[in-house]
Amino acid sequence: MNKNLMQSVKVLKGIGDETADLLAGLNIVTIKDLLEHFPFRYEDYRLRDLADVKHDERITVEGKVHSEPSLARFGKKRSRMTVRLLIGRYLVQAIIFNQPYLKNKITINETVTVTGKWDQHRMAITVSEMHFGENRRGKLFEPVYALKGSLTMRNMRKYIAQAFAMYGDDIEETLPDGLVRKYRLPNRREALETMHFPEIPEDVQKARRRFVYEEFLSFQLKMQALRKIEREQTPGIVQKYDLDKVKEFIDRLPFPLTGAQKRVVNEILTDMKSPYRMNRLLQGDVGSGKTVVAAICLYASVTTGRQGALMVPTEILAEQHAASLKEIFDPFHVRCALLTSSVKGKARKELLAELAEGKIDILVGTHALIQEEVSFARLGFVITDEQHRFGVEQRRILREKGEKPDVLFMTATPIPRTLAITVFGEMDVSVIDEMPAGRKTIETYWAREDMLERVLGFIEKELHKGRQAYVICPLIEESDKLDVQNAIDVHSSLTFYFQNRFKVGLMHGRLPSAEKEEVMRSFAENQIQILVSTTVVEVGVNVPNATVMVIYDAERFGLAQLHQLRGRVGRGSDQSYCILLAEPKSEIGKERMKIMTETNDGFVVSEKDLELRGPGDFFGKKQSGVPEFKVADMVHDYRALETARDDAAKLVQSRAFWEAPEYGRLRTELEEAGVLKGEKLD
Ligand code: ADP
Ligand code: MG
Repeated sequence: MNKNLMQSVKVLKGIGDETADLLAGLNIVTIKDLLEHFPFRYEDYRLRDLADVKHDERITVEGKVHSEPSLARFGKKRSRMTVRLLIGRYLVQAIIFNQPYLKNKITINETVTVTGKWDQHRMAITVSEMHFGENRRGKLFEPVYALKGSLTMRNMRKYIAQAFAMYGDDIEETLPDGLVRKYRLPNRREALETMHFPEIPEDVQKARRRFVYEEFLSFQLKMQALRKIEREQTPGIVQKYDLDKVKEFIDRLPFPLTGAQKRVVNEILTDMKSPYRMNRLLQGDVGSGKTVVAAICLYASVTTGRQGALMVPTEILAEQHAASLKEIFDPFHVRCALLTSSVKGKARKELLAELAEGKIDILVGTHALIQEEVSFARLGFVITDEQHRFGVEQRRILREKGEKPDVLFMTATPIPRTLAITVFGEMDVSVIDEMPAGRKTIETYWAREDMLERVLGFIEKELHKGRQAYVICPLIEESDKLDVQNAIDVHSSLTFYFQNRFKVGLMHGRLPSAEKEEVMRSFAENQIQILVSTTVVEVGVNVPNATVMVIYDAERFGLAQLHQLRGRVGRGSDQSYCILLAEPKSEIGKERMKIMTETNDGFVVSEKDLELRGPGDFFGKKQSGVPEFKVADMVHDYRALETARDDAAKLVQSRAFWEAPEYGRLRTELEEAGVLKGEKLD
């Protein structure tokens, strides 16, 4: 890195200790940092025609004062002034906060230029800047920077201009020539200069392209290098499974595999017999049949004499998986056991002992699996279901049990491509993109709460046909803070409504395990026809005879969650229905309901979800590991992201990348990030 650029910003005129401290608060310490302090938006002072302006846009317009201003004061400092302006053929209300002194300058019939936010509905503009006379500004397009404390925009612009004048020539190209030419990117100096001093918005677009690519490439190189290093330096076990047995196992399944399932099984088996350690993400929409894929691969590992583990996020799911795997595995003499926190005392001791002696082939469980006391004799294959619900640390602990087990992460929340590339970029990805034959699409309706009567009638009709229904509520019991439905109340009112005709069960996370198990079993055996529940049944629960999913206060759930809940029905051959009872207040809420009624495809739902929420929020909690970029936007720039990923993957496989001087700078970056030592990124 060029030394001049690594100097402190204090070498600039006007920056002393105090200003330097303020800048440090923005992570600006060196000249380089300052030059890379990109504007977060631009002020566009070019005059606009109100006919082309959208609601909420920031605009500059010129007009004539049409009325005397009227001023209202609130206390000493606050005031609000309104004045009518004639702009083109529109009469517009200008609103000016806290600048009472402008009142005397505003004269009827004089020309003014105002900049501010446009309110289309009220034909009003909230003014942030007002100039008297015509728009005669020097620059019509200016960068706007993040500031801190007493830093002013004017000074920030000055510092950056000064830094450029003094050190612009020291800015070196970071990208290899070949790529710059291939994508016709402006060189680094030129691009930086344009970001800070553009003439028109189109200039910014060109310069931005370069930084978007640069950021993505640098990030993807880390991911891809990490992947390569992990593959080469942590060899896995070569699992020489018995192909004939695996084939027989597949033949004896009650259904033929879908094309997608076959492809994915092949991908996984190929990893297992390779000397690489598998680190693979398996994505598939709800109901696409991930469980049998898991079972086949677990079985393959068992045929090598090793053990397998399946970790799931909830007890209900663990129990269900254990039960269905037992059924699949019994004829093959594979011993399958369940470990959750409710397995206690003597039973637990025995189970752990058998596991350590290798008498158990497959262990299914919750995070109880990763406790220290749990040790396997020969762990060869690990699966985590609904992997994004487990933290990075929990996944690591499980991976490190046993020698070097192959690891498969499964997720039923389809992850949008862009996020899969960034968050799981170091993994291989398999996708089941095909549903088993004969599945009907679930019909989804959005109903207002006053239609409850009709909804109940509809449920009743389905129950009379012998089907079953779920009714989901956001809360377990009444809350004085939230005005939403709770499972306990809904359970009692439905019990009353359906009395003597149908049985209504109640399920939520606070029931004791034994009771949960009992309720689930009764529902699965159709002794209960309606299950009122919280979202504990969200993932994985499989009762094919249930055809109705009613979700109360559906606007309170995210799209991914709604899609998961909907996935509890449509698992058998009968037509299924999902009814969303919702009174969304926000536009986003309404949009969600519409998306749900319009598509059944989890990948589409998740892409939309990403658009509505933004990448940082997609996985809910902030533990997601979604990287932040300065310039790039994963959602809108996803094409560039894919390009960068492909380029990075090719580069790390090429000899030139590791040797040629052209790539020196990119290699240094990897080194500085600790990637070459095999340290984990976060
Ligand atoms: P998910 O991917 O949501 O975990 P499951 O593995 O629970 O889905 O499968 C959903 C249902 O589809 C199960 O009842 C399963 O037995 C059935 N199923 C899976 N694969 C097939 C297939 N190839 N043909 C028919 N039914 C299948
Ligand atoms: Mg599943």
